[in-house]
Parts: sequence; structure tokens; C-alpha cells
Amino acid sequence: MKSFDAIIVGAGQAGPSLAGRLTAAGMSVAFVERKLFGGTCVNTGCTPTKTMVASAYAAQMARRAAEYGVTLGNAAIGVDMSAVIARRDAIVLPARNGVEASLRGNPRCTVFTGTASFTGPHVMRVGEEELTAKQIFLNVGGRASVPDLPGVRDVPFFTNSSLLAFTELPRHLVVVGGSYIGIEFGQIYRRFGSEVTIVERAPRLVQREDEDVSAAVQDILEREGITIRTSAECIDLAPHPEGVLVGTNCAEPPPNIPGSHVLLAVGRTPNTQDLGLDRAGIAMDKHGYIVVDDELRTNVEGVYAIGDCNGRGAFTHTAYNDYEIVAANLLDGGSRRVSDRIPCYALYCDPPLGRIGMTEAEVRATGRPALIGTRPMTRVNRAREKGESLGFLKILVDAETKQILGASLLGVGCDEAIHSLLDVMYARAPYTTVTHAVHIHPTVSELLPTVLEDLKPLR
Ligand SMILES: Cc1cc2nc3c(=O)[nH]c(=O)nc-3n(C[C@H](O)[C@H](O)[C@H](O)COP(=O)(O)OP(=O)(O)OC[C@H]3O[C@@H](n4cnc5c(N)ncnc54)[C@H](O)[C@@H]3O)c2cc1C
Repeated sequence: MKSFDAIIVGAGQAGPSLAGRLTAAGMSVAFVERKLFGGTCVNTGCTPTKTMVASAYAAQMARRAAEYGVTLGNAAIGVDMSAVIARRDAIVLPARNGVEASLRGNPRCTVFTGTASFTGPHVMRVGEEELTAKQIFLNVGGRASVPDLPGVRDVPFFTNSSLLAFTELPRHLVVVGGSYIGIEFGQIYRRFGSEVTIVERAPRLVQREDEDVSAAVQDILEREGITIRTSAECIDLAPHPEGVLVGTNCAEPPPNIPGSHVLLAVGRTPNTQDLGLDRAGIAMDKHGYIVVDDELRTNVEGVYAIGDCNGRGAFTHTAYNDYEIVAANLLDGGSRRVSDRIPCYALYCDPPLGRIGMTEAEVRATGRPALIGTRPMTRVNRAREKGESLGFLKILVDAETKQILGASLLGVGCDEAIHSLLDVMYARAPYTTVTHAVHIHPTVSELLPTVLEDLKPLR
């Protein structure tokens, strides 16, 4: 049995940074990773997809070149998948290797390769090794959910990981799941030249967003020739001469959608099934997420769960913030909490959706008096100048406190522009802080004060 001050399981978005802080404080750390250093974000999530979003954007702008007075000759726009992948890997591999090198190069950190699982509350087995520590940090992340549909074992299907490992261009990609991951991949492959159909069981895409956001996202995708089938639950998969037949319960014909390939993008499952949590007495919820308190402690003394596996966030920035909370509270005498976090994320379709705080529907559900400001991107000069004026800006404000409650900014640059509102929310300052600020012209951000100067009661 090898004894350490701390064990960290999973080299995702929280574990490696935490190892840096703990070892800098003089602690010895056993670090366990079973697969790819950097976890989902670096290897099969944010980083590779965002490089491909960039390639897809370049293809789209090349197609639109003539609109800008740029001549490319008469050749059709082609996409060289091997070059797309080479560019992607040139960004992913150094990031992965950098995480591994920094852990292995840390003299107080001992790296173990394999799957860690509990044999007791503070003891973990990795292959032949038994490790023990008073403090254990679980950063095991999640993976794509694969629903137990009839036929799912009879056909090849992609998840986010296997699609990223595929080096060809699908002729017709059927994406099951019209939410953040499905939409991102759908638009990427459409822009690369695939036919794309998105099948979503809810009546609209990204159903966690407001209806106007769903409608605008659908419009953006349909303009590019993506077929959207909503209120269409995928109920089975079957082999088909073309590749795969996706069967749906859609009332609109045709119920069956043939495609050359299918991507399952229907949610995520935490990697907790093989951790031996029961042997340590660590509580999980019914979905397999590790139950934590506001400071990310599990029910077992000294054991923490950070990142996607605790069900308190599903993003790289929330996993990283989990690390910050734990490090601040353990090492700096802090009292940071998950509940201090304001929800924020982006949907990386193009143009992107930046989201913070509550949706309009959530604000309405509270019943509080509120104000709303909106503006189409066609009335944002910078967007018009760029020839990218799809989408709209929407901001909600508490009528009494004057604080910003939430915003949905769908449009060019909105994944960045939204941060000026987010910081004002963190400052708990009134929205007039923004209206009194002078923003740079011409930017998307310069219109945020204008939207807030034109607030109307939310009826
Ligand atoms: C296609 C896609 C695109 C995404 N895009 C974005 C985005 O643009 N922005 C954003 O914020 N988020 C995005 N996400 C989400 C983001 O990737 C995750 O929220 C983030 O990676 C979670 O980090 P984590 O540290 O919790 O876990 P992970 O990054 O999943 O890391 C967990 C690590 O634990 C290891 N592990 C698991 N079990 C064990 C075990 N028993 N023993 C040893 N090792 C183990 C795994 O191998 C893995 O390396 C995306 C996700 C996907 C799938």
C-alpha cells in the first residue's frame, strides 16, 4: 500500500490544476488517469470541435466570398478532411502532452496509469497498486450516453469521440439529438459538405433555451440546408443499404430517415459506474452523479467530487471553477461555494449563442416584475458590416433591484460580448453601470447599453 497526502482521479479540467496547487503547498499527490490526459475538453470535446468549427467557418466564408467582392474562381469549395484533422491535431496533441508532461514533471506528483476504484473509503486500487490518502478528489468526468434503442447493437453509430476519430466525410449524417453537441456537429459537417438531418424528440431544438432562441437557431441551420425533424423521437436503428435507418415516431412523414452515418448526441453519463463508490460508501444520485455539498464534499470525510461527475456543471469552466473552489477552501482558508456561480455557457453554432443567468421563461416563472430589452442583429452595425447579421440580443433585468437577471445573445461575436454583462452580474451592480459605460465602436458590445436604454416591462 502506497500512502500519499492526496489522490486525484482523472486528468480532466480540474484535477491537473488541483495537483499543481496541492503539491505547491507541500503535499504528495498520487495522480491517476486511465486514458487521455486533458480529458474530454482537450481530446474529444471543446478543443477539437472548436478547431473544426473554425474550419467549417472558413469553408462557409469561402462559399460566400463573392458576397464580399472576393473572387475564388469557379471551382467548387472543397474540404480536405485530412488537412482539417491535421490542423486540429496540431492543437489538440500539444495540449494533451502538455498536461501529461506537467504532471509527470512535478516531483511531488506520482502518476499512475489505469482505472482507479475504491476498495475502502480512503483506499483505491489501480491495477496491482493500492493507494491510500486522507484526501481524495474525483474528477472522472463523463461520456456520451448511448440509449438502449432496438437495433443499436446492429449498426455502427458515432458518439462525439468516435466521430472525431473518423477521418472521412459522411455523405449523409443523421444527428440524433438537437441540443448543444448535436447542433455543433451538424453545422460543422454540413459546412464540410455532408447532407445533415437533425432528429430531435422535443418540439423544438435546444429546448432549455427560450422559444425565440430555438426558432432562430433552427432558422440559421435551415438556411444552410440542414434538415430539422422536431417532435421526432428516435425509437430504433436498423441497417439500410445507404448505411443506417433511423426510425422515429414522428407524426410528419417520413418516419424513417436513411443516412450514411448516425451520430448519437442525446446526453452525457458520468464515469462513476466502475469507481467502486459503494465500497467507499459514497452517495450517488439516480443518474449516477456523485452527490456533493456546496463546497464539493461528498458524504465521506475527505473525499471530493469535482467537474462533470458531480452533476453541478457540464462545462470546462464549471469543472475549472470546482478546482478553484476546493483549492481556495482547503489551502487559502476561503469559503467559496458552487452556488456563488452564475450560469454561463455558449452554444457554438455560427453565429454563436452566449447565455448567462436566467432565460426569459425562467424569469417569467418567478413572477417577479422584470424588464426586457431586445434588438435584432440586423440593427447591430458591426454585424451588418461583417455580413453576419442573423440572430438577436435579449437582456432581462429585475424591475426593482435593476440588476441583470439573464441574457441570450445570439449573433456574431456574442460568445465574447456577453461577458461584459456577466461581470456586471457578478458585481451585483445595476444595469445602469452598462448604460453609463462607453463601449468601443464598432462592436457588438457597443449595442448592449443601447438595448438596456430601451427596456420594456416584461408582460
Ligand atoms: C463534443 C463536446 C464539446 C464540448 N464543448 C464544450 C465547450 O465548448 N465549452 C465547454 O465549456 N464545455 C464543452 N464541453 C464539455 C466539457 O468538455 C466538459 O464539461 C469538461 O471536459 C468536463 O471536465 P471534467 O474535468 O469534469 O472531466 P473530463 O474532461 O471528462 O475528464 C475526466 C477524466 O477522468 C478520467 N477517468 C474517468 N474515470 C477514471 C477512473 N476510474 N480512473 C482513472 N481515470 C478516470 C477520464 O479518462 C478523463 O480523462 C464539450 C463536451 C463535448 C462532448
